[in-house]
Amino acid sequence: MYKVKIIHGSMPKVPHGYGSWLHYFEEKSVRPVMGCHRSLCYIDYNIDFVIVKRLDENNDSLYLIPLCKNHHSSSDEFYVKDSLVKLP
Ligand SMILES: [Zn+2]
Repeated sequence: MYKVKIIHGSMPKVPHGYGSWLHYFEEKSVRPVMGCHRSLCYIDYNIDFVIVKRLDENNDSLYLIPLCKNHHSSSDEFYVKDSLVKLP
């Protein structure tokens, strides 16, 4: 499991060739989004995408994860239980 922190601010533009962040995420992770990816959260509705940074990495790589409405504005550090998708 990766520990991450949300990078708040405006979302970048969806990469060319993809209709949405959901489309991009599912193509890259090769499976459907089943719900919030925060560890111990099992909510599967009101899912939105956020940009996070992995706390085990010392670089500028950013990742995309789906989170539920309760969690997508949090500013704490948390574990992700499922896949992260690297931003282009
Ligand atoms: Zn959640």
